[in-house]
Amino acid sequence: MEDITISEFQQAIEKIFGERDKKRGLSKSLNHLFEEMGELSQDLRKGDKKKIELEFSDVLAWLATVANISGIDLEKAAKRFISSCPRCGQEECNCPEDNGYFDIR
Ligand SMILES: [Zn+2]
Repeated sequence: MEDITISEFQQAIEKIFGERDKKRGLSKSLNHLFEEMGELSQDLRKGDKKKIELEFSDVLAWLATVANISGIDLEKAAKRFISSCPRCGQEECNCPEDNGYFDIR
């Protein structure tokens, strides 16, 4: 399998599902994303690697759908994290975990 960029993945989701995604709309697509995240959560607890990988790909695809509908470039969004923690600026995050870090990130 060849490597793909986040942009290529997002464009593939747009090409394959873009028309249907626009008709379905943001609210219903968000429901699908949350549903897939729930399934991922369940499969992570069960530990079946093949199913977990499938659920990750579903979550990624629905995340790309929601980004497409919202006009958000996921590659650009991901670049915030490419070299350091966006909050503390360290290459290896040094934020205090008990200081609302996960809310702010
Ligand atoms: Zn940090």
